Amino acid sequence: MGYYKTALVCTNGHPISSNIEDYPEDFQKFCTRCGESTVSQCKNCQSKIRGYYECEVVDFTPYAPPSYCYECGEAFPWVENSINAFIELIEIQGGFSEEEKEMLTKSLYDISSDSPRTQVGVLRIKQVAAKVGPEIKGLMVNILGGLATEAAKQQLGIK
Ligand SMILES: [Zn+2]
Ligand SMILES: [Zn+2]
Repeated sequence: MGYYKTALVCTNGHPISSNIEDYPEDFQKFCTRCGESTVSQCKNCQSKIRGYYECEVVDFTPYAPPSYCYECGEAFPWVENSINAFIELIEIQGGFSEEEKEMLTKSLYDISSDSPRTQVGVLRIKQVAAKVGPEIKGLMVNILGGLATEAAKQQLGIK
């Protein structure tokens, strides 16, 4: 059985360290990629953000920060930031009602976790993607790459 080290992540979801306990010299107050502040615990329940999984088998998959706190279920700030950025893209594109934007926000939460609603979210996002120009679509795919679960990414055809 292994255990999780603590991660340091910026509020936009850039991983600074997947093991800040053993490498405290990697600590940064702010992200060098985007300038946002960094966190190593859930702001809702103060649990440590899960980082590198320490066990006998060495894992070489690159570390990706979790979307939700394992202790209280709260979404981490990068989930909300990604969703807000996605909605801003929709506003740049134009032609979507407030109601549609609200539905889309729900769908974006749905694709950030694996549940029976994930597929519904994927379907709605596909419908939206069909209505936007190629430039906006490219930017949407970038955001979805960091937000969607592996299963949702496959269904969206972005992996
Ligand atoms: Zn950052
Ligand atoms: Zn929490």
